[in-house]
Amino acid sequence: MTLPNIGWIGLGHMGAPMAANLVAAGYPLAAYNRTRETAEGLGLPLADSLEALARGAEVIVTMLGDDKAQEAVLFGKDGLVHHLREGQVVINMGTMSPDLSRSTAERLAARGVGCLDAPVSGSVKQATDATLVIVVGGEAEVLERVRPVLEKLGKKVVRFGDAGKGAQAKLAINLMLGVVMQGLAEAVVFGEACGLESETLIDAIGETPLASPVVAIKLAAIRAGNFGAAFPLKHMAKDLRLASAEAHGAGAAIPATEVVRGSFELAVSDGLGDLDVIGILQSLRNS
Ligand code: NAP
Repeated sequence: MTLPNIGWIGLGHMGAPMAANLVAAGYPLAAYNRTRETAEGLGLPLADSLEALARGAEVIVTMLGDDKAQEAVLFGKDGLVHHLREGQVVINMGTMSPDLSRSTAERLAARGVGCLDAPVSGSVKQATDATLVIVVGGEAEVLERVRPVLEKLGKKVVRFGDAGKGAQAKLAINLMLGVVMQGLAEAVVFGEACGLESETLIDAIGETPLASPVVAIKLAAIRAGNFGAAFPLKHMAKDLRLASAEAHGAGAAIPATEVVRGSFELAVSDGLGDLDVIGILQSLRNS
């Protein structure tokens, strides 16, 4: 079976290891990143422009930061959309608003291009190990055409419905992540303020049923004092903002998420946005 040519856009924390997994699986792939220096040295075949990338690809994956980036790359001046042709499929794997996911699908459908929102749960480790959970919105028939590609990136691919439903599912998962990260950081600052021995408390939390895989990873980061980003804090703030907006529209009560959103937005405005999500601990220690 001939594997489709992949065009990969966005080589940040997540995009780089995910694209590398497709290359390792034998997919012909050309990648593009706004900042070329970031892309060079990754060992991936690169496309010189969005036009060149679109010309050579049947399936195009975007792994970009936020709605603004996605809109600019797809629909900005000389954006990807100007170079697409009927029959291609665009898969957006970044965490974007459900609104943008729906409007992207509509605008691409008008050109005969298939489109999925397929954001991921898991961070750099799961991206590297190809054990992401991929939540999908879009036409079932389009998903079936590209399912083998997604299955090389994750351990589970779940379709929730039409365009925007993958984005909504991702926000449900990430509002929980935000609340858990805030809770972990608060447990640590509470212990510090009470004069509990930090290492002992961190070890004890690690032995409780609360020590899920992500909590275990973040406990190790706290122990090492390493707040280098795997999942940048600014993206967590963005996801909580998107979840809040979506909850208002849908009529969902998410009071803890609203408080946690304020905490993450404060951390970003204090200049901590490029730390890892568990850098929220640093913000609490500073306040
Ligand atoms: P990242 O490291 O910040 O990378 C962002 C990517 O978007 C880079 O390639 C960046 O290009 C590009 N970009 C940003 N603004 C742009 C613009 N205006 N025009 C063109 N390109 C632009 O982000 P990440 O951690 O890989 O995350 C990517 C997406 O996945 C986000 O939506 C995030 O919420 C989501 N996500 C992240 C994780 C995680 O653990 N990191 C986990 C699950 C989901 P440059 O190199 O030129 O800046």
